[in-house]
Amino acid sequence: MRVPLLDLSDQYRALESPIRAQLDEILANQQFILGPKGAAFEEAIRAYCGSPNAIGVSSGTDALLAILMALEIGPGDAVITSSYSFFATAGCIARVGATPILIDIDPETCNISPSALERYLNESCRRGEDGFLREPQGKILRAIVPVHLYGLCCDMDAIQRIAERFELEVIEDAAQAIGAEYPFGGASAKAGAMGEVGYFSFYPTKNLGAAGDAGMVICQDDALAERLRACRQHGMERRYYHNFIGGNFRLDEMQAAILGVKLPFLDGWSAARRGVADVYREEFQRLGLTNQLSLPPEPYRDRGLTNHHIYHQYVIRTSQRDALREHLARKEIGSAIYYPLGLHQQKCFAYLGYHDGDFPETERAARETLALPIYPELSREAQRYVAESIAEFF
Ligand SMILES: *Cc1c(COP(=O)(O)O)cnc(C)c1O
Repeated sequence: MRVPLLDLSDQYRALESPIRAQLDEILANQQFILGPKGAAFEEAIRAYCGSPNAIGVSSGTDALLAILMALEIGPGDAVITSSYSFFATAGCIARVGATPILIDIDPETCNISPSALERYLNESCRRGEDGFLREPQGKILRAIVPVHLYGLCCDMDAIQRIAERFELEVIEDAAQAIGAEYPFGGASAKAGAMGEVGYFSFYPTKNLGAAGDAGMVICQDDALAERLRACRQHGMERRYYHNFIGGNFRLDEMQAAILGVKLPFLDGWSAARRGVADVYREEFQRLGLTNQLSLPPEPYRDRGLTNHHIYHQYVIRTSQRDALREHLARKEIGSAIYYPLGLHQQKCFAYLGYHDGDFPETERAARETLALPIYPELSREAQRYVAESIAEFF
């Protein structure tokens, strides 16, 4: 039996006619950029996330780039993020000329460790006479980018408390976590809507995927939203008058329209993904595999939230990861490693001066994590085959 890591064909078949109708309408009207579809989708995301502002952009990467540019973060500044994330998170910080500061992960969730973050700020950083908080090289600490990896929110109560104490902006990387909830201050809050500003990616393989690249920023502050709207058009507020430098970070109408068709189904898909995770757990328990494998944690499961996890990825851990992956490939089962290196181990970041061993939990995760097939339509039969193939390996 062939079980791909992800298969989007059933989803497309179910939505083919409304998607095609949207595209026909746009082709008939010939309005491709910043039109009614983009505005309607921004409004839908705003309502869905309970955030005062939503700004459509061209990708998740461009969302973070635009946010950093709009906040005037650049040379001389430092921005903290997790050492275990997709490259874009740290790449954008470096691209605006700021210094990425990496913090190790919590071994349970693979999200940034609040205690490691607090220790770094307490022990390595100093507030100078000028009132700025500086890291050891003298760069001014401006913001934290917590990444809600695999669709599970970071410990945002702890992160917000630390951010407030050290006066840092919180920019949530919710690229993998649209709709995920966190018991924030005892109430339910959505990923991206807890910090000053947050962003989503609609890369085709994300839980809400476009037919190409697309992204969205959500933010609390209206003035920042206005600045982001200008930023996505080269910093242009009035036509051809540029008060600051932005870029072309616009969301196009076709992507917005397709995403608008899909958004009403997102919570149902996330529920189906949780169902897949439940089946994996049952199967692994039935086959007695829970000593060999660590299963994904669900720290917010019993906190009265619906989307306590949206399972963008279903990631297990085992010390025999590479051999298991080869075995699964022989069984025609897709799997993936997110990610094989910590960000501090990427060649392009050698100039940051980090070394192997600096972030032990990140490095262990990079050796042990394995993503298994997960998507809403994945059949129980396919899951049983995956679980039995893993049992056969062990
Ligand atoms: C996908 C992703 C991004 C970047 O989004 P793109 O739309 O691909 O540019 C950023 N951060 C994380 C954690 C991601 O998974």
